[in-house]
Amino acid sequence: MNRDRLVKTFQELTAIDAPPFDERKMADELTARLRKLGFVVSEDRAGEYYGGTAGNLYASRQGNIPGKPLLFSTHMDTVEPSRGKKAVLHEDGRITSDGTTVLGADCMAGTAAILEALTELYEEQACCRDLELLFFIGEEKHLKGSAVFDFTKVQAEESYILDLSGPLGTAAVQAPTLIDFSITVHGKAAHAGFAPEQGVHSIKIAAEAMTRIELGRVGDSMTVNIGYIEGGVKATNIVPECCRLLGEIRSYSHEQALGEMKRIEKIFQEEAEKAGGSCEADFTVPIQAYRVQETHPCVRRFRRACERLKLPVRLVPTFGGSDQSNLARHGISGLVLASAMEQVHSCAEYTTVSGLETVTELVKLLMQDAE
Ligand SMILES: [Zn+2]
Repeated sequence: MNRDRLVKTFQELTAIDAPPFDERKMADELTARLRKLGFVVSEDRAGEYYGGTAGNLYASRQGNIPGKPLLFSTHMDTVEPSRGKKAVLHEDGRITSDGTTVLGADCMAGTAAILEALTELYEEQACCRDLELLFFIGEEKHLKGSAVFDFTKVQAEESYILDLSGPLGTAAVQAPTLIDFSITVHGKAAHAGFAPEQGVHSIKIAAEAMTRIELGRVGDSMTVNIGYIEGGVKATNIVPECCRLLGEIRSYSHEQALGEMKRIEKIFQEEAEKAGGSCEADFTVPIQAYRVQETHPCVRRFRRACERLKLPVRLVPTFGGSDQSNLARHGISGLVLASAMEQVHSCAEYTTVSGLETVTELVKLLMQDAE
């Protein structure tokens, strides 16, 4: 393995500023590198759609091992503070930022590993599967890039996303449905001193409803939260006319999450009606639950590669979303793999040279797996 080149690639990639929706330089850099490696690269118009500077990158290359293409993916954007990142290599093999920004191992560790694996396969003229690659924009902004990607061009039915912290050999096989909701309660304004009986107190309605809702962990597989409330006007002598609540529901069961949403809406409606007010609920489902069975070929392939590298396999659920949530919606089953990124979303983020090497080897083995 060309360790120096791998570290250099990682340092070069992390030196590029790529905050969400400003991924232009990163997209150009990856496009140039991938074309040199024989990939056909195209960029979609997700950037225009969101008012960003670059779109999602899709790259493909034919291999010489029969079978459907395998899909590998990371995201191009880096969470803030990320401008002016410098990857500092320490004597013990750790790579950190200079302390004033994140490092950008999320997601450049996986990206560098993919590039190094591809470069080695190319130089060795080694056998390799048909490959498809996706590099998304705006992942750190609620998966916005992958949410609008046109998946009809993707042939792969199996994917590996390199975007997880934790010991190498860890893979997320399950993710939840997330429902973001807003509830607006309408009451009636009145003078609180002269004619309170003419008013309908929207905040009281919301409070009554909230006491009937179970918040926090609900059962083994669901959480419910109301994270924000605003209501009334800044005057203590007015019965508040309007109150709005923002919340979320997460569950490994899509049906359970939808059922809970209906239940919450009904409780608010009942309380509003009781008091002579009304309410409306709006919700979106940014990610939908999926689970990959342990017998699935993408899991078996991952196990084989880990065995070769003597990495203990840990299949875990995650309670957050990733680009895989959007891939799963389009019928692509896959794993989110631990990829040598630790303490992400903080200035203490780090990776290690040996971690980068292992992820590269893992990716290379997956790309060469014949089954
Ligand atoms: Zn990430």
